[in-house]
Amino acid sequence: MTIKTRFAPSPTGLMHLGNARTALFNALYAYQHQGIFLLRIEDTDLERSCPTFAQHILDDLRWLGLHWQEGPEVSAINSHYYQSQRTSIYAEYYQQLEQLGQVYPCFCSPEELDLSRKLQRTAGQAPRYSGTCAHLSPQEISHKLAQGLQPSLRFKVPKQQLVTFTDVVRGSQTFNTNDIGDFIIRRADHTPAFFFCNAIDDALMGITHVLRGEDHLANTPRQLLILQALNLPIPNYGHIALILSEDGNPLSKRMGSQNLQDLKTQGWLPEGLVNYLARLGHSYQADSYFNLAELSQRFALERLGKAPARFDPQQMQHWQQMAIAKIDETELWAWMGNEVQKLVPTALQTQFITAIRPNVTTPDQASHWARILFTDDLVPQPEAQLILTDTDPEFFKQVLAALEVAQADYTQLVTTLKQTSKRKGKALFMPLRAALTGETHGPEMTHLLPLLGVQRAQHRLQIYVQ
Ligand code: GLU
Repeated sequence: MTIKTRFAPSPTGLMHLGNARTALFNALYAYQHQGIFLLRIEDTDLERSCPTFAQHILDDLRWLGLHWQEGPEVSAINSHYYQSQRTSIYAEYYQQLEQLGQVYPCFCSPEELDLSRKLQRTAGQAPRYSGTCAHLSPQEISHKLAQGLQPSLRFKVPKQQLVTFTDVVRGSQTFNTNDIGDFIIRRADHTPAFFFCNAIDDALMGITHVLRGEDHLANTPRQLLILQALNLPIPNYGHIALILSEDGNPLSKRMGSQNLQDLKTQGWLPEGLVNYLARLGHSYQADSYFNLAELSQRFALERLGKAPARFDPQQMQHWQQMAIAKIDETELWAWMGNEVQKLVPTALQTQFITAIRPNVTTPDQASHWARILFTDDLVPQPEAQLILTDTDPEFFKQVLAALEVAQADYTQLVTTLKQTSKRKGKALFMPLRAALTGETHGPEMTHLLPLLGVQRAQHRLQIYVQ
């Protein structure tokens, strides 16, 4: 059997890390089995869906490296993978359900439904459709239709039955149909309910595994009932635990609910993000940095966690750093952006990259170092300024003298200074770094001094000699 997974986003907004993780797990599982990762755009909610969002989703997935083998822009018929273009297919299945006597029109108004729900809650019952329209006679139905009333279409849920399935993440799941009221599969305005098309399409597209957020678990028994009634194949469902912030609350903006477009603009690298996301609610035996092929080889459904995953910004940083360490020079150069490309002389490009690669996680930080090394206006950071004010000007005279001989050879400069200044450790390195870079931390000075150049170094030191 060919494994076929899918990512089925609703294009009602930009893709964020949670969506990306769902896409990633589905892609990894399909890749692992040389199967098919399918992309389907669930744009039936015409008011909230937007083609621009759909296009962003395609771009974001490609940016992450998650290529789909079936879906928009790769399959022969594009429209096949946009639910808004599949209305006639859904109509067929509504009709089949009608013929099977599995559905009935419901004329209840939103106000009536609301009132009924309120009454049920007050009586301490879980709100579900009370069945008002379940027993309308054909005459009553014709009469209401003749009045111009637009009914929704409800699925008749059998009473006193158990719906059971084995969730590939959470194990055996059982729902009692008595807890599920007859539900709407087509709204009064004729738009289909999301979980109806979603289930029909999974069956028609031959999806074998659905990995999706835990928030969809309650939809699953309803989807099973629909598929069973239509005698359509049922995929394996796996409901992945949601992502929470570190304090256990839903993700806030700051804590990683940012969209991928923003993350990309901020300089996050896709390779780092996938390494992070693959470990968010899924555990790998090794902590090493893996490419997508390696991540997929090691992916296992059994390693998907049932407990909510905690978003950890530090971990995300860690994988970003790993990605920066791995990425090739040309890509890193492009990533660093315009300012770096303008400031750093071409001849020093490789040296600059080697120097700062371990110390930066954003293009802004790269620009910062380019300005320090290749522009004259240096404003020391407050911490560096304190050190400079506290250091005897005599020391800087000694540095200037040592520099005359050592030139850009930092190791030699330090060897000489140890003798002439009698300083060592922090007392030697800190004022030196502070004067030359205006910072108290940063890349190795052995790399920085040759980039800074002897002349610029002399100018910076002279300020502190007087
Ligand atoms: N369109 C649904 C969503 O974006 C898909 C849910 C599912 O994966 O089944 O939430």
